[in-house]
Amino acid sequence: MKVVTERTLSAHQRAGRDGGEMAFADGAKPCPFCGHAPAIELWPGGGPQKRMISCSNEDCKVQPRTTGETRREALDNWNERYNSEGREG
Ligand SMILES: [Zn+2]
Repeated sequence: MKVVTERTLSAHQRAGRDGGEMAFADGAKPCPFCGHAPAIELWPGGGPQKRMISCSNEDCKVQPRTTGETRREALDNWNERYNSEGREG
């Protein structure tokens, strides 16, 4: 039986009900924890407008997210993965 938690409610609210733009992020790697495609949306905080990329799977155990000054920067942050052999590039 699925229990509706506060977290799943907020995930539903994030998906458009608060008026924020949200879409799947082109060029972003899948969530490293659940493999779900992440979503990109405008970061609703004050100050300079940022982009936020977050796992859009409400059942994801971790629901990682990151922000960037631009869409590109947010994508770069999201796509960065730890590599035990050293970072490429
Ligand atoms: Zn996930």
